[in-house]
Order: sequence, then structure tokens, then C-alpha cells
Amino acid sequence: MLWLIILRRKIIFCWIPGHAGITGNELADTAARSGTGSSERFPIPHSDLKACFRQKLQSVWQSNWDQQTENKLHSIMPVLAPTVPSSSNRREQVIWTRLRLGHTRLTHRHLLFGEPPPYCEICNVPLSVKHILCDCPHSNHLRHRLFNSVDFTISSILNNSTNSSLVFKFLSIKGFIHHM
Ligand SMILES: [Zn+2]
Repeated sequence: MLWLIILRRKIIFCWIPGHAGITGNELADTAARSGTGSSERFPIPHSDLKACFRQKLQSVWQSNWDQQTENKLHSIMPVLAPTVPSSSNRREQVIWTRLRLGHTRLTHRHLLFGEPPPYCEICNVPLSVKHILCDCPHSNHLRHRLFNSVDFTISSILNNSTNSSLVFKFLSIKGFIHHM
């Protein structure tokens, strides 16, 4: 990172869906590999710089993310960290990830089929993961029974993977689990 600062280079990272076969990406890969080939320019092996890079990038990424409070995923994960799968069951891992993203079949399948969005039949408000897990007053009794509270945030419930079994139980009792 030091020489990047000295050279005043600006690097922009962006996620791309795939690499192979796209000319620009192949050229970028080749150029990147040629840059790592020579260790003469640096007094230490480039592999030793990885931890330093990773730490710096994490810090830049976090400060960027800190400002994106309007992003709906921000409240779920304000502090960036690796997402640890909460269970060994593949199906539950998928559901857990969908809940954290706020995109489930139940709440978003209408987009694929051009249907009207789903509503909570009791509250008559758009059905969302937040409404199901946190807001719908008709689940307060069950929330209290399972989570010992009726007043929690989507972040507090989905940022702690130890809650996953209770969340799955909640969804199962509510009849939502097979629609996630
Ligand atoms: Zn409701």
C-alpha cells in the first residue's frame, strides 16, 4: 500500500460475475500476474504484503460501508465480517443467507412472476423479512416465547448465528419456513 500512496495511484474495486473468456478481464489478469513475477523491486516477498493489503482494504471498505446507512443491508451487518454459516444443513444455510439479505422466495418471488407484492394478511402492510421477524404484532406472543423479547432489531437477531435454530423454529411455527 505504501508505494501506491507514494505513486498516488487510485484503485477502484468492483465485483464482476465471471472472468473466463472476457478479453478485458483476461488482459487484466495477465497484467496483474506479470506484476507479481519480479521480486527484485521489493525487499520482501509479495506474499508477505497480503496481510497488510487485506487489513488496509478491510479498513477502507468498513469506512465506506459506515457511510451507507441508507443501504437496506447496512442494518443487518453494520460491521463487516465473514459470514459464518450457522448450521451444517445446506438448506438452512441458504435460508439464513436469504433472511440476512432480506430476499426470500416468499417476499420476492412476485418480481419473477410479475405478480403483485405479498402483504401481511393481518396488518395489510408489505410482507418483508423485517415485518415477519420483528414487526408483525400478531407474532409477539411467539417472539416472547422463543426469544424472551418482543423488542429486537433485524440486526440483533440475524447477526448472531446462535439465534438461527430459534429463527427457523419461529418460521416453522408461523408456516413460513418452506416458502423461504
Ligand atoms: Zn403483520
